[in-house]
Amino acid sequence: MKIAIGGAGIAGLTAAAFLAGAGHRVIIYDKAPQPGPVGSGLIVQPTGQAVLAALQLDHLLMKRGSRLDRLDGRTEDGRRILNVKYEALGPDVFGVAVHRSSLFNILYDAAKSAGAEIRYGRMVTGADAQSCGFVFADGDTSEPCDLLIDALGRRTPFVAREDCILSYGALWANAPFPSGHEFSENALSQRYRSANLSAGVMPIGSAADKDPLQAAFFWTLGARHYDAWLMTPLPRWKDRVLKLWPEAAPVLDHFQDHEQFVFATYAHHTAPAPVEGRLVHMGDAWHAASPQLGQGANMALIDAWALSVALERYADVDAALAGFVELRRNHVKLYQAISRLFTPVYQSDSKTLPALRDKFAAPLSTFWFMPKLLAAMVAGTLGDPLKHLQSPTIYAAKTDAAEEVV
Ligand SMILES: Cc1cc2nc3c(=O)[nH]c(=O)nc-3n(C[C@H](O)[C@H](O)[C@H](O)COP(=O)(O)OP(=O)(O)OC[C@H]3O[C@@H](n4cnc5c(N)ncnc54)[C@H](O)[C@@H]3O)c2cc1C
Repeated sequence: MKIAIGGAGIAGLTAAAFLAGAGHRVIIYDKAPQPGPVGSGLIVQPTGQAVLAALQLDHLLMKRGSRLDRLDGRTEDGRRILNVKYEALGPDVFGVAVHRSSLFNILYDAAKSAGAEIRYGRMVTGADAQSCGFVFADGDTSEPCDLLIDALGRRTPFVAREDCILSYGALWANAPFPSGHEFSENALSQRYRSANLSAGVMPIGSAADKDPLQAAFFWTLGARHYDAWLMTPLPRWKDRVLKLWPEAAPVLDHFQDHEQFVFATYAHHTAPAPVEGRLVHMGDAWHAASPQLGQGANMALIDAWALSVALERYADVDAALAGFVELRRNHVKLYQAISRLFTPVYQSDSKTLPALRDKFAAPLSTFWFMPKLLAAMVAGTLGDPLKHLQSPTIYAAKTDAAEEVV
């Protein structure tokens, strides 16, 4: 088939790697003038790792990323209220925290070497249903296709959305990882005061072989406070962070300028219909959520795999698209609901929710079933999203490749 993909982000590049690899002719269009991701770091969960393994890219992820064994969240007096250990799911289960550019480069190279063409500087504004092509900002239309994939992220022009921007976002910046201090190279560490003040430090591997280990630092900030933050001298803001988390000093020492930070806003939205004729939405274009649960990139990866499996399973495109939705719908619904539930506990103006969190989260987590439940929630495996994705062709290819190596 001829397939046009809007968006060379995580979903678009992964879909291109699968689909071009399966022999389809794939062209991706992205509005950015040139290749490159924006942002700091993210966690590739066991679900996302399985997708990369299906593309035989997991070893590259491990090479670039940092293995995460646990998520550790404490109140400012050091009381632990979040303690998620991946090992509750098995000894070989872990997250991989990675710089966005590392994940981008892995997927970009995979899409290109599978034969996908990537065209930059093309702003998609709509679609021409008759010719099955994208319409661009300059009025041009892409060549007619058999399938259009909307992987344009949460601001996709295809999905009308009411106010879906959450009131809290975060400042993100990278710094050398503070090895030798209180931070673990295998944990995401966070400090909270109520639900509108929190900070985190996460190891994110290194972007090149000889580069030192990097950390992503984030600080929760209401979108309405961003302008005021820009006007605040950095030392004054750092004092505020240090009051919450004195141990963050070696990371903060690295920041001298507001421009080292990116302010990321978050959104929560689910498209009412993931498929419209021959147009299919995936990734954030279908389901955007706050990164509190660390699932967005992983859901985008699973979507891409599910679409390629569905297209392989059904000869008829419409049946394949229905199959894709079937493969993904329940998992998407479940995680959108969990995210909706938890976001106000960690990022809102509520006084009650964080008070309840601080009082009950630690005792609740001692119930026998909780370590496994929390780990599964974070790992993205609740609802078993990979259960029906074992594609015989992919696994056969993988086995052949493994045999060749042997
Ligand atoms: C600060 C932050 C931290 C996060 N942390 C995590 C985490 O730890 N774990 C996790 O799983 N997820 C995390 N997420 C969420 C994750 O980044 C997203 O869910 C994921 O990037 C979605 O992938 P996507 O391909 O759907 O969209 P994107 O990655 O946003 O890609 C969309 C692409 O489309 C292009 N584009 C957009 N509009 C147009 C247009 N009109 N025309 C042409 N091109 C266009 C963009 O240039 C971009 O390349 C985080 C998000 C943020 C903001």
